[in-house]
Amino acid sequence: MPSGAPVARFAPSPTGYLHRGHAFSALTAAKAAEDRDGRFLLRIEDIDRLRCRPEYEDAIYEDLAWLGLSWETPVRRQSEHMDDYQAALARLRESGLVYRCFKTRAEVMAESSSAPHGPSETYVGAPLAKAEEDRRLAAGEPFAWRLSLSAARAMLGDRYDALSFVEEGEGPRGERGLIAADPAAAGDVIVARKDLGVAYHLAVVVDDALQEITLVVRGADLFDAVPTQRLLQTLLGLPAPTYRHHSILTGPDGKRYAKRDRAETLRAIRANGVSPAELCAELGFDERSFKPSG
Ligand code: GLU
Repeated sequence: MPSGAPVARFAPSPTGYLHRGHAFSALTAAKAAEDRDGRFLLRIEDIDRLRCRPEYEDAIYEDLAWLGLSWETPVRRQSEHMDDYQAALARLRESGLVYRCFKTRAEVMAESSSAPHGPSETYVGAPLAKAEEDRRLAAGEPFAWRLSLSAARAMLGDRYDALSFVEEGEGPRGERGLIAADPAAAGDVIVARKDLGVAYHLAVVVDDALQEITLVVRGADLFDAVPTQRLLQTLLGLPAPTYRHHSILTGPDGKRYAKRDRAETLRAIRANGVSPAELCAELGFDERSFKPSG
């Protein structure tokens, strides 16, 4: 692989069947890799065991192969790498960058209800006093780990204010190029959920680094996740990938496709007799540039 060639990934969660929007994302990542002699990786984001199902994972492989895509194997499945996430969490704990949060989602929402934008899950807090924390731990109360923005700022100093990223695609407000990353809007995010021991942001930055991803391709709905992810990368000493967010595809009714829209799943499209070539063309890709599925 030539130096500077991208390592791009498509990272779906097997919580439903893939739809047109996923096809667009996967084709964008694969084409970005192919255009510059890079690598295309698939990652199964299945930390949430209650929402993920094996049949959806099988369908991901089947649908992407039908589209004409091929990817490197073995595929990384997040559920098989909990140790990697625990190791990263341990590092954050050792550096005093995370704190236990015993609050329920409803409590967080209620506390923020008087804020100008109304109730939200955005939260900025602090560790409990030791005696109170010990009491709750002894009582077996469940807790999440939150990343402390104030501790991160204290540790990084000027580097905190200089956090940035390169956007090769476009954010939801037309953002592109070199963009300042301010993690404040997301607050003290949860890096380890009460029920799972890890959460989305932490798993993604650990995986992107371990898989040596240099190009993160995904929908613009995840654009606002970048500042938190850049902060975590910086705190953990991980490299910064380039980002390519793409606009979210919408249906004829102007609404974005969702896994619940059965008619727009790739399997339904296929069952209706649409060929992969037709779908690729409709999405703006030339299907001939991809290897046929084997
Ligand atoms: N697994 C996430 C999803 O399916 C995507 C995560 C990412 O690309 O960072 O929405």
